[in-house]
Amino acid sequence: SIHSLANWSSGSEESDSSGAECLYRVVLLGDHGVGKSSLANIFAGIQEKDAHNYIEEDTYERTLTVDGEETTLIVMDTWATEKQEEDENWVQDYCMQVGNAYVIVYSITERSSFESASELRIQLRRLRQAENIPIILVGNKSDLVRCREVAVEEGRACAVVFDCKFIETSASLHHNVHELFEGIVRQIRLRRDSKEA
Ligand code: GDP
Ligand code: MG
Repeated sequence: SIHSLANWSSGSEESDSSGAECLYRVVLLGDHGVGKSSLANIFAGIQEKDAHNYIEEDTYERTLTVDGEETTLIVMDTWATEKQEEDENWVQDYCMQVGNAYVIVYSITERSSFESASELRIQLRRLRQAENIPIILVGNKSDLVRCREVAVEEGRACAVVFDCKFIETSASLHHNVHELFEGIVRQIRLRRDSKEA
């Protein structure tokens, strides 16, 4: 069914059988400071001037029309801190379990965040082995050309190895951010449609 991919607790499973509603949970992962909240805020349509006091962790829901079809994404902005404190590990473990799709973000200006992205990809694969979950690798801060530490080709090559999609974005310039979320919707649909076929 259309809902088979949406690992949804109470609520949406009861939604009407006309099949109009499609809800998918998208989790943003990545090092502190790479731009996850900035990307989530653009998704949610929050202006930068309002964004300074957002709470660390949040979820945003929006319905996108992609290729003439509506899909609702619930974007979870995770808030793991710089130093992964012990009692925060459960947050990441939880997020690793509940996503219908994942956006793994690194900053092109910080090689260590690129390495963290690989680790996250490996962790995800281990935890969700049997499932074919859509994953998009995102190199953010593409506007900071002079500070670039990770080449576009490296990001692309990494995505090939990890069998996921890749895009470079700039949250500051809003460059490729809508393309990113549309890409997620398309990846989700590809898997849904191949399951139904
Ligand atoms: P998070 O810790 O992953 O949620 O990262 P934030 O969204 O809080 O961003 C961390 C810092 O990087 C903030 O100062 C943002 O303004 C800045 N930032 C985020 N995305 C971009 C981008 O695409 N380009 C530039 N130049 N700065 C960015
Ligand atoms: Mg944040």
